[in-house]
Amino acid sequence: MRNDHPVGDYAGRRVTVFGLGTFGGGVGAVRFLAERGAIVTVTDRRTPDQLQESCQQLEDVPVACWRLGEHREEDFTTADLVVVNPAIRRDHHLLQLCLDNGIPLTSEMNLFWQHNPAPVIAVTGSNGKSTTTALIHSLMQTGTRRCWLGGNLGRSLLPEVDTISAKDWVILELSSFQLADLNRLEVSPHVAVVTNFSPNHLDWHTDFDDYRQAKQSILRWQSASDLAVLNAADADVAAWTTSARTLWFSLDDHGRDGCYQHDRMGIWRDRQQEMAVALRDWLPLPGEHNLQNAMAATCVALALGQTLEQVETGLRSYVPLPHRLQCVGENGGRRFFNDSLATTPESTIVALTAFDQPIVLLAGGYDKHVDLMAMAQAIATKTKAVILMGQTAEKLEALIRQTPGCTTRISRGHADFRAAFQAALEHSLPGDVVLLSPGCASYDWFRNFADRGDQFTQMVQQLSA
Ligand code: ADP
Repeated sequence: MRNDHPVGDYAGRRVTVFGLGTFGGGVGAVRFLAERGAIVTVTDRRTPDQLQESCQQLEDVPVACWRLGEHREEDFTTADLVVVNPAIRRDHHLLQLCLDNGIPLTSEMNLFWQHNPAPVIAVTGSNGKSTTTALIHSLMQTGTRRCWLGGNLGRSLLPEVDTISAKDWVILELSSFQLADLNRLEVSPHVAVVTNFSPNHLDWHTDFDDYRQAKQSILRWQSASDLAVLNAADADVAAWTTSARTLWFSLDDHGRDGCYQHDRMGIWRDRQQEMAVALRDWLPLPGEHNLQNAMAATCVALALGQTLEQVETGLRSYVPLPHRLQCVGENGGRRFFNDSLATTPESTIVALTAFDQPIVLLAGGYDKHVDLMAMAQAIATKTKAVILMGQTAEKLEALIRQTPGCTTRISRGHADFRAAFQAALEHSLPGDVVLLSPGCASYDWFRNFADRGDQFTQMVQQLSA
């Protein structure tokens, strides 16, 4: 994509926002541009009904033309600038139309980058991006500089960019789509964190290498005065190159500067000096994967001059993001965890390793026809009971029963989510964990994963009420 419009000069210019979306970026771009006098057209294939939440957030913004439920070529060929939603495929015929007509293209994140005066700490990876980004924000907030949290996490900082100062920290989660666009500006963040790398989004990227190259943009334009924080245990990421100073994190000692653990105690090593960091005591999140996320965040904070006390305070006061192994209540000696964001078998497997207590699991959902064997085996070996829901229930039951030595009790055929939840209660005892970690998408019984997690949380809260 080209990006050759005069930065900052929007008054009277015709700007088309291509893809409003529901993740906040489109809304942020529309608000930013309209407030600067641009004549904004918003176009999205989805209908006003489907985009209700995003449209509501723009009720006070003067949008010149709403073109929802369809796209029209004239909205592109007559524009001075098109702001492209990162989820739009690069081979979309309307992008080609813009290129053929010499219409400049940009994105919400590229606009933010061009206007933002503050140094950026950015996180990417295949898993754990949001958690690591939010953890870094929590650790950096205990210092004296103002911190801003945004990006792919769901909040656009673009409308607020004028209030950000060069003395602040901007902490961003960046998706591979956003990084592919930023690469065209030839920019990388001052601090780049890569959590891990595995096959993902292969529907959008042409292949695995294309996806890797997009992610590597986070390091590509760094200089020696920048910092990279990389996962030493991830063979792929460990081979990525950067000109920046590099710190490493992993559960095992990697022999280099950064964060690792010894005898379950976190250790920070910097230029031969080592100090203990009691991450396991301070982190209010279960699971070894979250410990790794905390190690990455600790590397960033300590390298940027935060004290050990500030790291402790930041971790202890961390407010878990919703729907990610979030403890949503305790009742009758049972603890309830909402992991509704676990829509893939891998994330449910990770969740099942996070607890020492007996687990009663609520799993299953919409059938995306992915391989459920590994997830079924994890359920058979790590849970005392499982309540199966949705289209995948029958398939999962068969796979769980096939697992040698399986003692898991299986319950399925419930009419609705409330009945499934009730079954989970009946199968659990004081001291158990009741875990919603479906490993499948939510489309059949719920609007989306958030609706599923919210309903679970409500039922837990009703128990106490
Ligand atoms: P992302 O933003 O990359 O989607 P999140 O922080 O939102 O990641 O976590 C989503 C899910 O990914 C979690 O519920 C958990 O199952 C899994 N996860 C989180 N961190 C890691 C990690 N470091 N390694 C593997 N899986 C992880």
